[in-house]
Amino acid sequence: MSALTAGAPGRTAFDVTALRAEFPILATTSRGKPLVYLDSAATAQKPRVVIDAVGDFYRHDNANIHRGVYQLSERATLAWESARACVATSVGGAVDEVVFVRGTTEAINLVAHSFLRPRLLPGGTVLVTEMEHHANIVPWQLAGAATVAIPVTDTGELDLVAAERMLRDRPVLLAISHISNALGTINPVEELCAMAHAHGVPVLVDGAQAAPHLVIDVAAIGCDFYCFSGHKVFGPTGIGVLWAKREHLDVMPPYQGGGDMIDEVTFAGTTYAAAPRKFEAGTPHIAGAVGLAAALTWLAAQDRVAIQAHEDALRDDATGRLAAIPGLRLVGTAPRKAAVLAFTLDGAHPHDVASLLDGEGVCVRAGHHCTQPLHRRLGLPATVRASFALYNTHDEVAALARALVKVRRLFG
Ligand code: PMP
Repeated sequence: MSALTAGAPGRTAFDVTALRAEFPILATTSRGKPLVYLDSAATAQKPRVVIDAVGDFYRHDNANIHRGVYQLSERATLAWESARACVATSVGGAVDEVVFVRGTTEAINLVAHSFLRPRLLPGGTVLVTEMEHHANIVPWQLAGAATVAIPVTDTGELDLVAAERMLRDRPVLLAISHISNALGTINPVEELCAMAHAHGVPVLVDGAQAAPHLVIDVAAIGCDFYCFSGHKVFGPTGIGVLWAKREHLDVMPPYQGGGDMIDEVTFAGTTYAAAPRKFEAGTPHIAGAVGLAAALTWLAAQDRVAIQAHEDALRDDATGRLAAIPGLRLVGTAPRKAAVLAFTLDGAHPHDVASLLDGEGVCVRAGHHCTQPLHRRLGLPATVRASFALYNTHDEVAALARALVKVRRLFG
């Protein structure tokens, strides 16, 4: 079966058991217990079609791209450029607006270097939010901008009145997450883009957490830049996407120099290839792009409406069960949120909670989740985070709740 046709043949209703069977790792154990993987916000597990697509590429099509005149290189080049077309289709953009990068982090660094820095005057700011991942804060600071943050309410929502006021100060860019990795809040990115554009401010949307859960349409969102990581959307690590409006890519200088991004090189100077190639110096992660295309194709073949309903049901089930545990406090209760649950447990350090859950085979994350400013705002040094994906089950929610009750007894 080819990566492009594989997926869920003939499956009409959402069947989580059949879907789980497509992810080999989910049948394994951890600490002698069935693996309960609740850390998909950190990285998602991979379906067999993705693992096979990467293996098949190395087995049958591996060569460097854009360089060889021989058939194998032509095949590798076709695989790479087909992957770009697949990404473009999946986000609703044009093929030459898709730049392959290592992940969300590199995408934002690219925009900071090539878009922000040339526009930055002394005192220039980037407007972010208090809930941003460090990847959507530090690159702007490295490029020389001051970061100013839209406040987050106690429930974990953005203060849109403050956002409107802050946009009047004309930041060089608004950079916001589509879904918060720490709280699960789904931000009103369409509304924020419209607001920003009314003030002439371009917008970057960090879609790292949204791509696995929502159908992404960059035109409907109305952003200037959208980025995400392959590994969170059931694809390989080391590959990611920057989508940008063509008008921006055309005037942005290259981010890195090297092979494959040039038009002509002389010792006196160099002219560059057109976008997106001018941003893709050196040999890229070809197999990664092939795997990412397989992942996006697989995801597109699923019943997205049914998956959304399943994930919402997991979120509601987990919220109900966890809220009923004495001493457990949920952090982030926005009405529009993904199946990400952050919490604290009275008297227990989040790292101890996560270690004890590990003993039960339950994988969760503890710490600041690369959102130190958010945790400072919430007055918490750390939280525990359980994050769900389309392959999780209500039995796993129950296993988490049971394990937490056990932990609670130890600290109670
Ligand atoms: N932004 C958000 C919202 C994230 O959740 C993450 C990953 N935790 C990143 C950016 C960075 O992604 P990556 O490490 O894949 O570059």
